[in-house]
Amino acid sequence: MQVKYHRILLKLSGEAMLGEGGRIIDEAFLRRIVATVKACLAEGVQVAIIVGAGNIWRGRQSGDIERVRGDYMGMLATAINAIALSDAFIRAGQDARVLTAINMPEIGEYYTRDAAVAHLEAGRVVIFAAGTGRPYFSTDTAAALRAIEVGADAILMAKNVDGVYTADPKTDPTAKKIDSISYAEMLSRELRVIDLTAAALCRDCEIPTLVFKLADTEDILRAVAGETTGTVIL
Ligand code: UDP
Repeated sequence: MQVKYHRILLKLSGEAMLGEGGRIIDEAFLRRIVATVKACLAEGVQVAIIVGAGNIWRGRQSGDIERVRGDYMGMLATAINAIALSDAFIRAGQDARVLTAINMPEIGEYYTRDAAVAHLEAGRVVIFAAGTGRPYFSTDTAAALRAIEVGADAILMAKNVDGVYTADPKTDPTAKKIDSISYAEMLSRELRVIDLTAAALCRDCEIPTLVFKLADTEDILRAVAGETTGTVIL
C-alpha cells in the first residue's frame, strides 16, 4: 500500500461507539477499529486517536446543568471511551496508552506533547482523553490541537456523514457533497461539519483534514493512502 500520511490523528465521534439496545459501547465496533489501526501500524503509520463522548454526554446538551460543569462531565465521558478503546487494543496484543488532559493518574498518563510523540515513535497507539481539558471546547477542536502539537500529517475525521456538503443534506435535497475545499471557504460559508474553532486552527497551521463516513472502518486505511471518498479540507 502506498502510504500518504505517516502520522495520523484519528477522530472518532462518541456516536460511532454506540451499540445496539442502549449499550454505550459497541464492542464489535472497537474490534473493527483495532483491526484497522493495526493494519495502519503494519504499514509503518503512527496512529493517535481522540474520541468524543456523544454516546454518553455532551456539555452543550446538558439542559439545566451549568455549562462548565456539564463540559467537565463530557470530558470525563471521553475518558470512559478512551479506556474502552485502550482495553480493546491491549487485549488484541497492541500496546496503547491513554494520555489525559485532566490529571487522573490511575486512568492514564497526564498529557504532554513529548510523551505523546515518544509513544508514537515507539509504535504505541496513543489515545487522547478529556479533550483539551478545558470547557467550551469540543473534541473536534481537541483533535486539531493535538494533531498540530504532535506533528501529525493529517486529521482523519470519521463522522456520521460522508463528507462536507454545500448545505445540510438532511434538510436540503439540493445539497451536494464537496470533494475538496479550503478552510477559508468552509469558514466563510459556515459549513459546520467540523466546528469553526477547529477549522480556524487547522487553517492557521496548514494541516489537512479528511472527513469521511465511518460505516466501513476500511475507510481509515483508504484515507491513510490519501484515497478518501469523503472531503479533503486544506
Ligand atoms: N468537551 C469539553 N472540552 C473539550 C472537549 C470536550 O468541554 O476540549 C466536552 C463538551 O461538553 C463536549 C463533550 O465533552 O460536548 C463531548 O465531546 P464532543 O461533543 O466533542 O463529542 P463528539 O460529538 O465527538 O462525540
